[in-house]
Amino acid sequence: MRFVHDILPQRVRFAAGAAAESLAAEIGLLGGERVMVIAAPSQKDLAERITAGLPVAVHHDDVTMHVPVDTAERARTVAAAHEADVVVSIGGGSATGLAKAVALSSALPIVAVPTTYAGSEATPMWGLTEGSVKTTGTDPKVLPRAIVYDAALTLGLPVELSVASGLNALAHCVDSLWAPRTDPLDQALALEGARALRVGLPQVVARPDGLEGREQALYGAYLAAAAFASAGSGLHHKICHVLGGMFNLPHAQTHAVVLPHVLAFNAPFVPEAERRLAVALDAPTADEGLARLRGRLRAPRSLRDLGMPSDGIARAAEAVVAAAPEGNPRPVTPQAVTALIEAAWEGADPR
Ligand code: NAD
Repeated sequence: MRFVHDILPQRVRFAAGAAAESLAAEIGLLGGERVMVIAAPSQKDLAERITAGLPVAVHHDDVTMHVPVDTAERARTVAAAHEADVVVSIGGGSATGLAKAVALSSALPIVAVPTTYAGSEATPMWGLTEGSVKTTGTDPKVLPRAIVYDAALTLGLPVELSVASGLNALAHCVDSLWAPRTDPLDQALALEGARALRVGLPQVVARPDGLEGREQALYGAYLAAAAFASAGSGLHHKICHVLGGMFNLPHAQTHAVVLPHVLAFNAPFVPEAERRLAVALDAPTADEGLARLRGRLRAPRSLRDLGMPSDGIARAAEAVVAAAPEGNPRPVTPQAVTALIEAAWEGADPR
C-alpha cells in the first residue's frame, strides 16, 4: 500500500443540544470580538438563539443558493463595514458557501454550524455563480476553522429535504470510492459514512424529531464530506455540476436522482469497492443496497420531475464527456453518458 493523504486542519465538535456552548468555546479560541453571523431568514430565530451569548457585530440574512457574485459582494461589504473578525455560518450549504465567499477575499476565519447534510463545512471548496455559470475552486482560506455539529438543530429539517440532502451526502461517499485522488483513508471514511447514513436516514424518515437518527445522519454527512474533500470530484459530481448549472436544478435532489445511475455504471469496474459498499449498505450488492435504501426513503426518481427539459439531454451529455474526471473506472463515452442521463431523466431503473 502506498499513498499520500492530507489531513485538513479543522476542529470538529459533535454534541447534541450544545451549539451555543460549542460556538462560545470556538469564538473564545479564535479571540473573536466582532462576529458576523450568516443565516438565511428561515434560520433567523435559531441563529439568534445560539449566538445570544456571543459578541455579534452583525446578523446577515441575504443568503442565496449557489452564491451569486452580487450576493457575495454584498456580504463582503457588510463584513468590512462592521469590521468583522470571525464569520459564523448557520444553515445549509448555501449559508456555508456565502461565508466561504467572504473568507476567500478577506481570509476571515469561519466557524460553521451546519443544519443540513450537504457537507460544505468540511471542504476547502468554494463556488460562485455569475449568470448561469458556476465557478468553483479550492482554497485553504475557506475551510472553516471549526465545525459545530448539533443534531438538535436538524430536527426541523423537513423529511423530503432530509432525504435529498442525506442522499447528497451518500453521493459524496460513493463518488469518493473512485474519484481522482481516492486513497485508503478516504475509502475508510466513505464506507463508515455510508453505513451511518444507511442506518440514520430511515430513522429520520420514520421519526423526523428523533435525535438518534439525526445524529447518525449528521455523523455520516461529516464523514462523507471529509472523504469527498480529499478524494475530489468523481463522475457523479461532474454530472450533477453540469446538470445543476445548465438547468438550475435543486442541488441535493439532483444528487439523489443521479446517484443510482452512476453507481450502476461504475460498480462492475471496481469490484473490491463495490463489495465493501455492499457491506456498508447491508445488502448482497451495492446497487441493491442503494435501491432498498431509496425505497425506504421514498427518494426522488427523475430529473424530469425536477424540471430538466428533455431536449437538454444531448447538450448535458456532451458537457459531461468534456468534463469527465481522469481515471474514471469505466470509459466515459458519449453513448454511455447519454443513456445514463436519459435513464435518470425518465426515472427508469439504472441500467
Ligand atoms: P441550502 O443551504 O440551500 O438549504 C436548503 C433549504 O433548507 C433552504 O431553504 C434552507 O433555508 C433550509 N434549511 C436548512 N437547514 C434547515 C433546517 N435545519 N430546518 C429547516 N430548514 C432548513 O441547501 P444545501 O443542500 O444544504 O446546500 C446546497 C449548496 O451547498 C449548493 O450551492 C451546493 O453547491 C453547496 N455545496 C457546496 C459544497 C462544497 O464543498 N463547497 C458541498 C456540498 C454542497
